[in-house]
Amino acid sequence: MVISANGFERGPGAAPQDGAPPQEQRSLPILQSAAPRVNEPTNAGSVGAARRVEQPVYVPPPVHTRPHAAEIAHWMDYLGRTPLLEIGAQADALRRQKHPEGVVSYIVDRNINYSNLCVTDCRFCAFYRRPKDDEAYVLSYEEIGRKIDEAKAVGAVQILMQGGHNPYLPLDWYLELLRYIKEQHPIHVHGFSASEVEMMAKVAKLPVDEVLRQLHQAGLDSMPGAGAEVLVDAVRDFIAPKKIDSARWLEIHEAAHEIGMLTTATLMYGVGEVWEDRLEHVLKLRAAQERSLGRGAGHFTAFITWSFQPSLTEMQDWQIDLGTGMDYLKMTALSRLVLDNFENVQVSYVTQGPKMAQIALRFGANDFGSLMLEENVVSATGIDFIMPEREICRIIEDAGFRPARRYQDYRLEQAGDEGCPCCRRQHQELMGSVV
Ligand code: SF4
Repeated sequence: MVISANGFERGPGAAPQDGAPPQEQRSLPILQSAAPRVNEPTNAGSVGAARRVEQPVYVPPPVHTRPHAAEIAHWMDYLGRTPLLEIGAQADALRRQKHPEGVVSYIVDRNINYSNLCVTDCRFCAFYRRPKDDEAYVLSYEEIGRKIDEAKAVGAVQILMQGGHNPYLPLDWYLELLRYIKEQHPIHVHGFSASEVEMMAKVAKLPVDEVLRQLHQAGLDSMPGAGAEVLVDAVRDFIAPKKIDSARWLEIHEAAHEIGMLTTATLMYGVGEVWEDRLEHVLKLRAAQERSLGRGAGHFTAFITWSFQPSLTEMQDWQIDLGTGMDYLKMTALSRLVLDNFENVQVSYVTQGPKMAQIALRFGANDFGSLMLEENVVSATGIDFIMPEREICRIIEDAGFRPARRYQDYRLEQAGDEGCPCCRRQHQELMGSVV
């Protein structure tokens, strides 16, 4: 059996279709004939552009039935009686306490979306393509390697590697990809959301902690917080009924922490949820962080929030409160205050725009995120705020901070560094074991 670039089966030894680019992927156990992308994804190809889903009714769970009910009530009361600027000032004071040096950090990295094929049909997603869609793709190892080399040439210290839930890719494909990257194009790999790891575990019929252990050993350095959306199951059923539930998302992150990995946490708000849901989300994160810090291995390094971008998704015509600029500032400040066991709060200029991100630096955030050399997920919704590094630095300086490049573990880059310090030793060990 041979699996083609867009993930579905072709006959044994099938030749490339006419007009397909030359096959470049080296011989792999599974994707022997996989080729680079044939058709670039277009706006017209998004599932949301073609399909309208009738808006279900969202009924928020009553506060007393929620985990952390008393704290949710406490913070709701605080939000109700505290003006936004005061919330911001309190968050800014806490930011200053945690980061008194006046630095706002950012990382130079590249997003690499290795595949957009997905079977999970999240209603808020404009990025994915279904199996058999002409615009579904799996990048070849060589294409991923080329993207890494391009990124390293302009100073990238990390790749963020994410894809859809592709049931046609076996675990070995990911393991061999990681080994290939570490062997041929060494760089810090921040990759695979909790729900992608769950899909790998399902396909491999292995427990998720074993899959994480194998990924980590093969070269996965840290894990992004994607796929969290809102960690309240009633909201998840509303926007992504086929995705893992909130408990599973937290369990997978804690399993990654247990084997020493660092991960991040996110919240995508403005999908129809209420403030109680946002609070339940951050309180669950705080409790998970407490457990992980108690174990003394890995933990969450940062929290990042952004608002839902509905264009070209199945939810684009839904009547929901998408959130305002005020909501973004309030959510950023609130996260800084509630998540007192998180060291870093990151802005999302890619979704909010540079000006809003700049203001958020005075509402509790201390990190500008990434100088993304490539971004495909947010830009699939038509939003595109990618900026050159000098502009990012100017924005940080104009807000009264000193910009500084960092690594994934938030250590600042130093002159003379030879790559990311947090994964250099692991890389050297891995090289010793690569045949
Ligand atoms: S958000 Fe991720 S899991 Fe959901 S449809 Fe998009 S690619 Fe698939």
